[in-house]
Amino acid sequence: MKKRAVYPGSFDPLTYGHIDIIKRALRVFDELIIAVARNPGKQTLFSVEERVRMLKRATRGLKGAIVDDFDGLVVDYVRRQRTNVLIRGLRMISDFEYEFQMALTNRKLASDIETIFMMPSESYCYLSSKLIKEAVSLGADVSAFVPRFVERRLEFRLIRKNP
Ligand code: ADP
Repeated sequence: MKKRAVYPGSFDPLTYGHIDIIKRALRVFDELIIAVARNPGKQTLFSVEERVRMLKRATRGLKGAIVDDFDGLVVDYVRRQRTNVLIRGLRMISDFEYEFQMALTNRKLASDIETIFMMPSESYCYLSSKLIKEAVSLGADVSAFVPRFVERRLEFRLIRKNP
């Protein structure tokens, strides 16, 4: 039987930090469902469809990577995917409190589901989608942190549209 896990998140937009976690998870699991959260309460720069499209493009060559979106409780989605593993990335200690709170809440909601945390390469430990958006809007070159096509989408959205 194939080992499958779900990696949920906003991915607004994806960065090499996300890709690093995806690659690491695929060394442990046969299939990884990268699931973009449809969270109407969270303001995002890119639509769910755009984020899904970018993730599909960035993971095209990765065997076992599947991109999807979901709404509602993540634990319900994980169950619908017939697995019991949820992957999250941990960068800095600053991530810990939020991730700990969320993992324990999810465990209360669904005790059969395990959250597994993975650490990225140290080069991506300080990287976040939020930081990338700020850097691009200030004119920085972020090609070391996101694929070139994502950088172009960011520039178009943040600079050319709002001169
Ligand atoms: P969310 O809104 O769910 O936090 P994000 O896209 O910001 O969505 O993050 C999704 C997951 O990926 C989280 O577990 C987050 O800690 C992790 N993540 C984000 N950026 C990085 C990175 N640079 N390195 C490792 N993990 C990361």
